[in-house]
Amino acid sequence: MASEGAPARKLPVLEPETAFFWTSGADGLLRIQRCGACRTWQHPPLPRCSTCGSETLTAEAVSGKGRVASYTINYEAWLPGLPVPFVLAAVVLAEQTGLYVLANLDGPVTAAHVGQPVSVRFEQHEDVWLPFFTPGDGL
Ligand SMILES: [Zn+2]
Repeated sequence: MASEGAPARKLPVLEPETAFFWTSGADGLLRIQRCGACRTWQHPPLPRCSTCGSETLTAEAVSGKGRVASYTINYEAWLPGLPVPFVLAAVVLAEQTGLYVLANLDGPVTAAHVGQPVSVRFEQHEDVWLPFFTPGDGL
């Protein structure tokens, strides 16, 4: 069941490598894959660390804060009931340079801008907690 009043969303398929990311929001925290050897964060999740090759990878909670690095405004309603226009943003997380998460950005599309501070929130749809970024409380 979707959150009350939440519009339809296309949901990701939960794969073993990525399920933690899509269910992380159940406790309100965003989790990102992190290497146990060199401590580098990486997203999306991979079988090995892209920096050192280690297979010792865990999902660790991040602050959920970051800044908009780039964005696109989408005017196409891909699903019935999906409100348009909406902003899809690449958010660089506070934890590491170059650590990006793609997600919808809340607020009027005309307010979106590169460098905008944002923080994560989640919207539950069935067994998935979709991350969204909302303006404010960033870096
Ligand atoms: Zn590593």
